[in-house]
Amino acid sequence: MRAVSSATERRELLKVVWEEARACTRCQLHQTRTTVVFGSGNADADLMFVGEAPGANEDKQGLPFVGQAGKLLDKLLAEISMDRKDVFICNCLKCRPPDNRDPLPREIELCSDYLHRQVELVEPNVICTLGNFSTKLLRGDPTGISRLHGQPELRTIGSRTVRLYPLFHPAAALYTPSTLETLRADFHRLPDLLALGAPEQPPPLEPIPELEPISELEQEPAVEPPDANAAPEAPAEQLGLF
Ligand code: URA
Repeated sequence: MRAVSSATERRELLKVVWEEARACTRCQLHQTRTTVVFGSGNADADLMFVGEAPGANEDKQGLPFVGQAGKLLDKLLAEISMDRKDVFICNCLKCRPPDNRDPLPREIELCSDYLHRQVELVEPNVICTLGNFSTKLLRGDPTGISRLHGQPELRTIGSRTVRLYPLFHPAAALYTPSTLETLRADFHRLPDLLALGAPEQPPPLEPIPELEPISELEQEPAVEPPDANAAPEAPAEQLGLF
């Protein structure tokens, strides 16, 4: 994907990816989901969180982290004087696995294109991976969260270099006080990490050369005007974008 400069343009493109995801049938999860949980928050955030997969509450509401784990995430954000409108939150999987089973490798693989496009369009400086699934996916390595949590590292994801900061999943901290204390201590180091700003970025992709104009005969037919009877476009609020 080519670098797109303005935040407005990137937000519009994010909505296009959302429209695509809403109709997704790439894996079997489309048969059992209620809604596609694309992600929510600030489409131009410096800080992005990537969880595992929607649970029952998220599947109903169409928004990520709205259950107990989400409440803990909100609390930890408040402790560092941030809230949801400062961050972008999404998951490895955009659809709920039935009975909250673990995501399957094939589901993660098929869904990862949406996550990569989200990273390219939001352009975060810091990505917190929450738990094992997103940490393994975005590091491309099977090392587990217990060994990696709280250690920031530079990683290039598509065209974006970010400070990847693995954290324990809030759900794991709900019932284990020692995990909560570790998560809280790691979380409280986020403001210093964010203060470092954007890491050096890879050089932009070569510009695509101008194409020769094509003859009239070869041209695509004009796009049909919008159908006046079509269902109205879903409001951006459904995406939870601020
Ligand atoms: N757990 C996740 O990983 N994601 C959610 O959206 C909710 C719970």
